[in-house]
Amino acid sequence: MRKKKKRTGLILIIVTVSLIVCALSWFLSQVFEGEKPQIMLSPLPAFISKPQTFTLHLTDKKRGLRKFTVDVTQGNKKLTISKKSFLFKNIMNRNGCHEFNLKFSLDPEQLHLTQGEANLTISVWDYSMRRGGDGNLSITTHKFIVDTVPPVLRVISRMHYISVGGTGLVVYQVSSDTVKSGVYAGGLFFPGFKACKESKDGFTVCYFTIPYNMKLPVDIHLWAKDRAGNTSTGRFYYHIHRRHVHKSRLNISDRFLNRVLPWFSFYKFPPQLSNIEKFIEINRKLRKENTAFFYSLRTKTSPDQLWDGLAWLRLKNAATMARFGDRRTYYYKGHKIGSAVHLGVDLASLANAEVQAANNGRVLFAGPVGIYGMTVVLDHGQGLASSYSHLSKITVKTGQSVSKGEMIGYTGQTGLAGGDHLHFGVMVNGIFVNPAEWWDPHWVHDNIARKLSLIKK
Ligand SMILES: [Zn+2]
Repeated sequence: MRKKKKRTGLILIIVTVSLIVCALSWFLSQVFEGEKPQIMLSPLPAFISKPQTFTLHLTDKKRGLRKFTVDVTQGNKKLTISKKSFLFKNIMNRNGCHEFNLKFSLDPEQLHLTQGEANLTISVWDYSMRRGGDGNLSITTHKFIVDTVPPVLRVISRMHYISVGGTGLVVYQVSSDTVKSGVYAGGLFFPGFKACKESKDGFTVCYFTIPYNMKLPVDIHLWAKDRAGNTSTGRFYYHIHRRHVHKSRLNISDRFLNRVLPWFSFYKFPPQLSNIEKFIEINRKLRKENTAFFYSLRTKTSPDQLWDGLAWLRLKNAATMARFGDRRTYYYKGHKIGSAVHLGVDLASLANAEVQAANNGRVLFAGPVGIYGMTVVLDHGQGLASSYSHLSKITVKTGQSVSKGEMIGYTGQTGLAGGDHLHFGVMVNGIFVNPAEWWDPHWVHDNIARKLSLIKK
């Protein structure tokens, strides 16, 4: 009986001691916990050009946050942007701070940072008793480059005579850290392209236009952006020549409608439209969609100049049937039913005449384009393109390279065409311009080639 009591007592002591040991080791593991505070910093910009706001998110699930510092270092210089200590609250810091959010701003100018590399360092300690009582320490360093100097823009070409609806070219130089540059014409952006791949001098070419439908006066200026996001604008001398607008009247006959409407069988017309209503629908809606399609092709242009020589080729032995920019008004049985601006030049030769590439390039598109019928679009690089519409047959494929004078198809009357002809278009960054300028060797020499010759290779 006594022996049993003694044994019970021993067990009790062992249990108590082990409980105390367990509690103590648990307590110590809590007090000396080794889990480091977590740091989340965003954003992490590679460059800083202007005051930058950062969001800092600090957490420490176990003992809680003790203190943090936010420092910027550059060379021997160290600047503290923000720091804070947190109070120890309640047993085991249960009511202390376990999560902290901070928004802070870093203004390179206010901090007198110099151009070049700098470090943003976040240091956070927790309330663990580790490291001689200092707590667990987390450090995050973000390297960045201070760049507050805008890119340099230097205009090289001199005279810029531009016709409304015509092509303009400006040659300029940009500093080496420029990532994007170009011309703004009335809010419309035209990208510049490196004049030659090998050149490290930053020579840039930019083709632009004052679109045929843009209201004058129009502001034209150069713009550049560097890797850090700094921007510059620059002026260049230009003179805008207003073009005379030709007006033409086109009568739509039932015979014409009967001939062209079958081409539009792909189009989902609202039900119960008469033929003339179908024409009105196509002229209003499909024409807009087609213009947007041509505009979308600009992003596929080659960064290199693909064309060469002076004058571009014009359909052989062809008469001009309609000019660029003609304001057309459509009539049906004497009533005005719509209008449109003609965005190319209509050239008529014999039926099914051979169509040649106006210059060297690459086939950007070959296929049907709504009212334009069977169409080939050639890219000539740096935003320049030519288009060939109403073809009866296409003899090239998308992606194929073509040389000046190479056959690409045959004329026809597919799409909204009154008869067999070639509708020839030239585009600058997806916007149709007057092709006639590009057929004129004197114009190409004075306005394009002479400027390109200023580029030092
Ligand atoms: Zn046309």
